[in-house]
Amino acid sequence: MSRTDRIAKAARRTAQEARDAASKRKKEEKRKRSNSSMGIESHRHCVVCWTPIALDSDPAVCSEATCIQKNEKREASRKRLTIMMYLFPGIAILLLLLQMAGGAV
Ligand SMILES: [Zn+2]
Repeated sequence: MSRTDRIAKAARRTAQEARDAASKRKKEEKRKRSNSSMGIESHRHCVVCWTPIALDSDPAVCSEATCIQKNEKREASRKRLTIMMYLFPGIAILLLLLQMAGGAV
């Protein structure tokens, strides 16, 4: 076998290896992309333990009793906080008005 033959053979082999690697990489990218697009749209997470749950479940908790209880407690405290956020400025304004009315008399 001559020297040029050997070099040509080696070059072919290298080209083949490069092609193989490229096609393998392409396949992996394709798989990754399809996975991520599927994963993002088809489910949501339990707000307590972050277990994947069905997209249309409402409230957004899994079927665990502890998660349901925790979510209910959170909702209740959030409602209280919302009420206070309106109630305290309301009381402050009421006191201010009373004071102004008292001062005017
Ligand atoms: Zn949960």
